[in-house]
Amino acid sequence: MEPFRDILETDRIHVFDGAMGTMLYAKGVYINRCYDELNLTNPDLVEEIHSEYLRAGADIIETNTFGATAHNLNQYGLADNLHEINVSAARIARAAAGDRAYVAGAIGPLGLRIEPYGPTSFDEAKDMFKVQAEALLEGGVDLFVLETFSDVSAMRQAIRAVREVSDLPIIAQMTILTDGNTSYGTTPELFTARLDEWGADVIGLNCGVGPAIILSALEKMRAVTKKKLAAQPNAGLPRDVQGRQFYMCSPEYMSKFAKRFIQAGAKFIGGCCGTTPAHIKLISDAVRAASPRAQNVVLTSGALAHVTDVAPADLKLVPPAERSHWSRKIVNGEFVTSVEVLPPKGVDAQKTLDSIRLLKEAGVDGVNIPDGARAQSRMSALATAVLVEQQIGIESVLHYCCRDRNLLGMMSDLLGAAALGLRNLLLITGDPPKMGPYPDATAVFDIDAIGLTNMVNKLNHGLDIGNNPIGQPTAFCIGVGVNPGAASNTRLKQARSMPSRSLFSTLINYATSSKRSSMCAFPLWPASGRSSRIATRSFCITKFPAFG
Ligand SMILES: [Zn+2]
Repeated sequence: MEPFRDILETDRIHVFDGAMGTMLYAKGVYINRCYDELNLTNPDLVEEIHSEYLRAGADIIETNTFGATAHNLNQYGLADNLHEINVSAARIARAAAGDRAYVAGAIGPLGLRIEPYGPTSFDEAKDMFKVQAEALLEGGVDLFVLETFSDVSAMRQAIRAVREVSDLPIIAQMTILTDGNTSYGTTPELFTARLDEWGADVIGLNCGVGPAIILSALEKMRAVTKKKLAAQPNAGLPRDVQGRQFYMCSPEYMSKFAKRFIQAGAKFIGGCCGTTPAHIKLISDAVRAASPRAQNVVLTSGALAHVTDVAPADLKLVPPAERSHWSRKIVNGEFVTSVEVLPPKGVDAQKTLDSIRLLKEAGVDGVNIPDGARAQSRMSALATAVLVEQQIGIESVLHYCCRDRNLLGMMSDLLGAAALGLRNLLLITGDPPKMGPYPDATAVFDIDAIGLTNMVNKLNHGLDIGNNPIGQPTAFCIGVGVNPGAASNTRLKQARSMPSRSLFSTLINYATSSKRSSMCAFPLWPASGRSSRIATRSFCITKFPAFG
């Protein structure tokens, strides 16, 4: 595993674990116990919780040492065990993580007020943090996470303490209230600037009052620092519903926020009090979709030249106008029409095909077939497309997504699709499988839609992903989905700079007053990629009742 400091240089997004205390309580440890002492008295239970978070997809787990400082332990008469509690905690986490995940030494506030608000001096505070940091380091942590701090001065002493014993990376996380500031009234802009200046490697927020407040604070923090940001909200404050206390932040709700944290610039996302492995599983799926395991190819205008350079010289590439009826019409600027039809749920495609025959008679240009719609079990979109083309004789536009197959599986599918005569692809990343009857289905996401587009473009140039010749090149007409209404247009710019020089489709989803419908616009970006004109060239009706 590369050192944690190296991953700070990348743009990858990493997933932290969720709450330890919540899980210990759920497993029967009552709240009058010292949870940090369990590192000595019940290490198996602590390790079991770490393992549950790792299975849920955490890349970084935190040691069970949030309260393992002198003053807190003293309340249970355990101050003399401080060193062994912290060393043991780090070893338990290390054993669970192996070389698959990082171990963060967790350090919380001292539980005392420090000057000028209390009797503890800055140096005394620093020394208390230092003994904990030394023990965590001895136990083998990869980084430190200083968390749930309200007093920025206390955080400063914790940073000093860690720096006196180690140069491992420090993630410094403050906690804020509903007004968006710390309980001391410090604004996110102010504490972010200070933590940056004092040497935190990553600046973040944890616990607090749920994800919504954290999101707006992250946006303020982004404006004042170039350091990476972290967000680990709790599951919100319990709400009283007819006398019962409910945590309103379901795993589903948290995972929606995970996407928004990413858009706001967070690179480390996890959960605090009230979050469980179920939350981390959905957060992890959302993060994998946004941050594929393989790095994207860096897209520059030279990328196409690169493909051309390595492609065998005697290849005859198929020009866009000759790839398909669909492709030719788009190249000629003609209006094309398509209807989206879901693959059948069972093995009998007859009803679907009968419906499509009517579409052909009505003069529709193509049938677009979504891939794994809502994670239901249906016939594969690829097989459906082959049936449609071979039995009805109308072109299909096959949606092909990165969610369900690894790189090699996708390569095999696409070579097969080409051999079976399919030509029109809509390449998409795909949503994590979180709904429908199989919420535990795993998502692969080796690459995202941009990586996939590069892969298909290479196939169109006679090369596989390893630049090995495949013989005759494929002749795919490549479409991608773009959301012109997104807050950031980075992806749109990336899509437009892609080397495929192909035809990009824009999938615009909008809600009508009564029911959701969607429209596909197929803009034609010329080979230069300079025009930003988006012309509507196609209509797509989703879930037309007869074709469900
Ligand atoms: Zn918390």
